Amino acid sequence: MRRKIVAANWKMNGSNDLAKALIGEVGKGLATLDNGVEVVIIPPALYVSRVRQLAGSEAGVGVQDIAPWSQGAYTGEISAAMAADVGCQFAIVGHSERRELFGETDAVIADKVSQGLAAELDLILCVGETLAQREAGLAVDVVSAQLKEALKSVSGSGWKHIVIAYEPVWAIGTGKTATAEDAQAVHQAMRRVLADMGAPAQEVSLLYGGSVKPDNAAELFAQPDIDGGLIGGASLKASDFLAICEAV
Ligand code: 13P
Repeated sequence: MRRKIVAANWKMNGSNDLAKALIGEVGKGLATLDNGVEVVIIPPALYVSRVRQLAGSEAGVGVQDIAPWSQGAYTGEISAAMAADVGCQFAIVGHSERRELFGETDAVIADKVSQGLAAELDLILCVGETLAQREAGLAVDVVSAQLKEALKSVSGSGWKHIVIAYEPVWAIGTGKTATAEDAQAVHQAMRRVLADMGAPAQEVSLLYGGSVKPDNAAELFAQPDIDGGLIGGASLKASDFLAICEAV
């Protein structure tokens, strides 16, 4: 049985007040939800402890990024061990915004994966193609290369900690969602790539991200290889986020 996961990526949004209001409402809704979905809230790192306290046992927490190093003179960075130390179970690595705006390469992301696994975090590795790459028919090639590079050091029980989020870059924050069929096709291809890499591919949870909303979530999550979602904008509104959690 694969884990069903819905993760809220707040990106650089939020405040103490928003955390209190949003987690209060989301927590209440989750308390009565029994569809087996694992819900994870991933606020900016400064709010992780607060969110953890507010969410109690209703949701896990995570960080949006971790350093590719274990510790030392890296001003501004947060290590995987620190994230685990303050109660995070999850870390996102390789988000397309980090790749685009901060020049993160697959090699750097591979180092982050190694650090995250050493700290026993569950890692949500983001992969996805740009619009130009999709139009050139390269979506699966791009995603395969990203998976192979970023996960090259994973083996054995490490795979238990790997979750993949397919986030086509052109669908993030744009209101454009991949059709359920297109998303399913990439997810199916990703499972093949994982199997080729020696992963227990049927056991790895594959999430979809990119303009997931209450009105498209059910169709996406109904696809056989889509095991949940990584939610940006809609995770900042309690009723929308709860509706997405319910759609799993
Ligand atoms: P949106 O849901 O706002 O499109 O963001 C998706 C995303 O990037 C989640 O990591």
